[in-house]
Amino acid sequence: MPEFEFKCSECGAISTFNKREDANSCPNCGSTRLVRIFSAPHIVKGRSGAGGKTLCCGRDSRPDSCPPGGCCRA
Ligand SMILES: [Zn+2]
Repeated sequence: MPEFEFKCSECGAISTFNKREDANSCPNCGSTRLVRIFSAPHIVKGRSGAGGKTLCCGRDSRPDSCPPGGCCRA
C-alpha cells in the first residue's frame, strides 16, 4: 500500500495520496504545485540513518555467526 506524501507549494498543506495519479491538486487550496515529500522509512535501506543500529555486516540484528563483540565479516 504505497503512500505518497505531497506538500503544497501554495498553502503548505501536506496531503497523503494512495496513488501517484491522485496527487495532481492540493485538496486544501486546489493548487497543482505539489512537491513530493520523501519521508517514508523504506527510503532508508540498510544504512543506518537516524538512530539506526545496523551492524558491520549490514544486518539489523546480530546473526549467530557473529562472535560476541565482533563482526561476522571480520
Ligand atoms: Zn494548497
